[in-house]
Amino acid sequence: MTPTARTLAETVRLSGVGIHTGAPCEIALHPLEPTAPTQLPKRGLPTQIRFHANAHAFPARWNYIVDTTRATVLGDAAARISTVEHLMAALWFTGITHCLIELLRGAEVPILDGSAQPFVEAICAAGTRDIPLPEPRAFPAQSSSEPPVFQVRDGERFLALQLSGSTLFGYIELPPPLGVQAGAFSLAESRAQIAPARTFGFLHEVEALRQRGLALGGSLENALVINETGYYNPARFADEPLRHKLLDVLGDLYLCGAYLQAFTLVAVKPGHTLNAQLTCQLAQWLWTEA
Ligand SMILES: [Zn+2]
Repeated sequence: MTPTARTLAETVRLSGVGIHTGAPCEIALHPLEPTAPTQLPKRGLPTQIRFHANAHAFPARWNYIVDTTRATVLGDAAARISTVEHLMAALWFTGITHCLIELLRGAEVPILDGSAQPFVEAICAAGTRDIPLPEPRAFPAQSSSEPPVFQVRDGERFLALQLSGSTLFGYIELPPPLGVQAGAFSLAESRAQIAPARTFGFLHEVEALRQRGLALGGSLENALVINETGYYNPARFADEPLRHKLLDVLGDLYLCGAYLQAFTLVAVKPGHTLNAQLTCQLAQWLWTEA
């Protein structure tokens, strides 16, 4: 069976504030015709997702991650683009493997409502197009070896990924009264169960972040805010922060350069730095010839 790539049927533009800079940002998602891949990953479909900023292009791949402090920032010496994770998750949710993301204004992907849902809706409204993936120029030697269980740890934080099954397990701890949030979600239902979960923040941290020049665009329109009594504005799910943490992992994992449909993920107190480490470990296995 010929593998099938998926791109957008037409260009979509999205604009809004950047959560970290507070400045207006605009992106365009353009269809991208697949070209013959030079290499195939050991599992999944090779993606061609590229960012274009300041007349400079770079791939949406793990080896272009330049910062993971508050968001995932991609770039190189010539250009940078911040907060790519919710858009990357939306591309994964909709199965888009080929896309050119043009930064038209600002230095960030707009935060929109703080979740992946507006990106998913815009992609669905534009429609998608499935195209047979051109044959690679040379077939690399495929390894028959089973993938390992990928694992990264930092103190109490832990991530594990197995390339079979279809479940996301998550665990986080929030201050009382919210406390522990833990749960399991099916990958098949993740577009409905995970994509709408918004970024969250703590009311007492907002001032500290703003003093560091961060979260300047954060507001009740694009974040779930937590204070000492619980949720400050209405939550979409009782465990919305847990679901959002899993959304971030999915977006960061999609920087591995391959579209994977079947996996099991265990995420205990995940964060962008650890997510990036897991993605690097996965990518090294996917793209290193055995
Ligand atoms: Zn996020």
